[in-house]
Amino acid sequence: MKVNLAEAHARLNKAKEIHQKAKVFDGHCDTILKIINDKRSLKRTLGKKSTTGHLDIPRMKEGGIDVQVFAVFIEDIYKPDRALKRALQLIDCFYREIEKNQDDISLVTNYNQIEGINRAGKIAAILSIEGGEALEGDLGVLRVLYRLGVRLLTLTWNQRNQIADGIGESRTGSGLTEFGLKVIDEMNDLGMLIDVSHLSETGFWDVIKRSKTPIIASHSNCYALCSHLRNLKDEQIKALTDKDGVVGISFVPNFLTQERRKTTVKDVVTHIDYLVEKAGINYVGLGSDFDGTGGLPLGLGGVDKMPNITTELLNRGYKEGEIEKILGGNFLRVFKKVVG
Ligand SMILES: [Zn+2]
Repeated sequence: MKVNLAEAHARLNKAKEIHQKAKVFDGHCDTILKIINDKRSLKRTLGKKSTTGHLDIPRMKEGGIDVQVFAVFIEDIYKPDRALKRALQLIDCFYREIEKNQDDISLVTNYNQIEGINRAGKIAAILSIEGGEALEGDLGVLRVLYRLGVRLLTLTWNQRNQIADGIGESRTGSGLTEFGLKVIDEMNDLGMLIDVSHLSETGFWDVIKRSKTPIIASHSNCYALCSHLRNLKDEQIKALTDKDGVVGISFVPNFLTQERRKTTVKDVVTHIDYLVEKAGINYVGLGSDFDGTGGLPLGLGGVDKMPNITTELLNRGYKEGEIEKILGGNFLRVFKKVVG
């Protein structure tokens, strides 16, 4: 028993060491929406440790985050005809938060900036939009959003928009519209990450066919383990990874298991295991959905708990180099290839 305890302790230290050394990349959070909607005297800001949400700078530091994708999520009441204005309000909120905390975090728009910002001991923030409604059907708007620093677009949320149908519209089985195809081409030309999380299955296959660059699912899990509409089927995983893309495993309990029980960090790692088994080590990453989900698994209640994933990966026999790829290396490879 004593030997086992010593072993466990050594492994914990090893996990800490690996986690600290690795680049940790989280592909999705909805924190900006939480901050803008906090009407009560700025209780929630990125700079202050929050007691209610999942993510802030003090906890990102504890969690060893190097790169964080911040999504601009547009609520239903603003769709479709006030979506762009709402997106701009959220982008403004994001910029103000980044400026208030410029010693700790910076917006990055290319791979070299990530390297530089991390070397300066700061967190690199990537700006993304969750829901193509923000384009309001205009490629010019897409180009302006790119100029504002947006490098990732989740084409749809669950509904239909000008680009495509979301997974909530699966009854009609529709995919990309003509405008949607143009958006894919323009994103390819600009160097933006195309995100298929929330997209209908037909839409997914349209994107696979159309996009010349790797695509990502920023926060989706494996359908074979949990048959939720938001998860990717084996054929989708194969197609996405054949294209050199990456899947960010989300921590949303409903996407982890259909069993009515409390989920834990082990469930997250089980989805990672499955992707590695199906596609190899190069195509899986993390896409927490912090501040975008009510509940979270035990042991992953906030971004500060990220090292628990590393401990569990180590427990399951992953080697250091493999863990580095899962924690961030894979997402960074695709970001470098697509965004430059
Ligand atoms: Zn989402």
